[in-house]
Amino acid sequence: MGDLGQRLAERFGHADFRPGQRVIVEDVIAGQDVVAVMPTGAGKSLCYQLPAVELEGTTLVVSPLISLMKDQVDALNALGIPAAFVNSTQSPGEQREILDQARAGALKLLYVAPERFRFEGAMSALQRLEISRFIVDEAHCVSQWGHDFRPDYLNLSSAIEALGRPPVAAFTATATDLVRGDIAKHLGLQRPEVHVSGFLRENLHLSVVPIKKMAHKLEHLLKIIESLEGSAIVYCATRRHCEEVTLALVQRGVNAAIYHGGLEDQERHTMQDAFDLGDTRVMVATNAFGMGIDKADVRAVVHYDVPGSVEAYYQEAGRAGRDGEKAHCVLLFTYADTRIHEFFIERGRDEVAPERYEAWASRERRKVRAMVRYAYEASCRHGEILDYFGENMTVGPEGCGACDLCTGQTGVPGETLASLTALAQTSGRSSRGRAKTAERELPTRPLDEQEQVVVQKALSAVARADGRLSNSAICRILLGSKRPDVLSDPLVQTRSYGQLKGYGHEPIRRLLVALERARCTQGQRPRLTSTGFEVMWGRQSVDLSVGPLVAKRSKASRASASAPTDDIDEQLLEQLRAARLEAARDLEVPAYVVASNKTLEGLAAVRPEANDEAWLSIHGIGPKKVEPLRDLFGALVEEAKEERPSEPKSA
Ligand code: ADP
Ligand code: ZN
Repeated sequence: MGDLGQRLAERFGHADFRPGQRVIVEDVIAGQDVVAVMPTGAGKSLCYQLPAVELEGTTLVVSPLISLMKDQVDALNALGIPAAFVNSTQSPGEQREILDQARAGALKLLYVAPERFRFEGAMSALQRLEISRFIVDEAHCVSQWGHDFRPDYLNLSSAIEALGRPPVAAFTATATDLVRGDIAKHLGLQRPEVHVSGFLRENLHLSVVPIKKMAHKLEHLLKIIESLEGSAIVYCATRRHCEEVTLALVQRGVNAAIYHGGLEDQERHTMQDAFDLGDTRVMVATNAFGMGIDKADVRAVVHYDVPGSVEAYYQEAGRAGRDGEKAHCVLLFTYADTRIHEFFIERGRDEVAPERYEAWASRERRKVRAMVRYAYEASCRHGEILDYFGENMTVGPEGCGACDLCTGQTGVPGETLASLTALAQTSGRSSRGRAKTAERELPTRPLDEQEQVVVQKALSAVARADGRLSNSAICRILLGSKRPDVLSDPLVQTRSYGQLKGYGHEPIRRLLVALERARCTQGQRPRLTSTGFEVMWGRQSVDLSVGPLVAKRSKASRASASAPTDDIDEQLLEQLRAARLEAARDLEVPAYVVASNKTLEGLAAVRPEANDEAWLSIHGIGPKKVEPLRDLFGALVEEAKEERPSEPKSA
């Protein structure tokens, strides 16, 4: 077979393998089943194209992207490698001709769309080929958890069997464990070698700009865009944000255009071409802008809103610097922006089967939290990303040299960060020269209602300890530790003991540190300050520099936390949800801002009379909300009562 590096140079003209490519090529040639996870642009195709050239027979490549198939085939043909595709854009005659060629052994690679396997004709033609390897590109499409699920992918395992079970290699850029598991399971892979590689993009400078006030966000963005040279993409979560940002940029004389799913196809093509050709410098877009961006010299990707997952973030940010030259990825981050994802998750009720919804929603929430961790708690942005994707590579003690946390710079000229000053001060204490997560000061943020309750509980434990205990000891009390020294403390007899069970030691310890910074407490063995008392009594709220405060709840506590469901009029509840969703969309606010789930459940259970008093008795309906909510839901409640008069309750 000769030396692989040499074959790489001869056949593909590349001087070296990229990280991870060689071992995948070797495994594919050896006939191993393989799952290879590599980010977009890392060079997945080569990992099966080189084996295809080296092996006898034809390599079958399943790919869902018909437009990209043609590009691939053209590129291969240009290298003198015989390749072709069959898909629905061709006439039956053309398809037959190509399959005949393949049968004659004239093709090294044959690309097929997954739906081909539905057709018996195509199937029996394929069965007559000598298939060396079965390649599944975009393999995450087999998983129903992904956003790209394609039912045709579920038929691939039987197609593989029908074709005599050649070795299978599956490629994807999507790396969550769940999707990876689905790939192996649904494709029927046999002891696959799993390779995760290529996620480190050293030419990308990653940074996060904490936004303290919403009003400053646009200013920050304008500054960043104006100080950068070259093409840039600004990603926004909503069309409305796209419009605001584009307008602001254009008013400043920036050459910017807009791209989102609401535009006509034709318009989108025009926009994309203008960007690819360099006629438009800045593209302001939703995540609809992505597939098929051809531009290698994008110098910056700025996220105006936080994406819903690290994957989405890195995929979008990764569109910068494809040419290998230095590029910037900046995330403008404010905690409040995560609410938009809460809204998207709520909207998922309409799209996800009801019995799967809760599991799906909690997964989505976990993804958002991982994104918050990237913004708030990472000690190195690149390290955090590699860790997320499961790539086995650690950033050394000297840091990555390409993120704000390791270099102390946003990388954006003219941008300096208060949080980074704080970082520089604390990093001196870190023996490894890099800021430790726990020492770094996070930007402060407002807390939601539940989090405020957590804060109150923590403060009340501080009050009870009354200067006797350290933060760590208070933390152990709150978590209900069973350590002997804890069990012998008088606080075990109080309500504070175990009151924050499930929140984890580190988050609560950090909370206590943050409370000290916010001057709610004072001292090594803390006592409450007067502010601390106010906050504890709920008379004052406080912004804190903490990550999300959420408990990993036990099954038992989850069950007791939800409302009793026996009396709920389910049909009404569904209607209320739909009405809420519609209102939320109109108002462009998250659904829970309109009304919480508990409120809807209350309405569906009680079906209140049409007077203020009755409505005020429902959970979450205060004087200000009676009128708007009765306008919104009143008619539905009345209808339900007429249609389904309540029966005498059985005990
Ligand atoms: P992916 O499928 O992972 O998104 P591609 O396979 O399309 O990425 O590869 C992206 C680009 O990288 C292509 O232009 C390809 O020619 C190039 N490439 C792949 N492997 C190498 C290599 N070893 N050296 C240089 N360029 C490479
Ligand atoms: Zn770093």
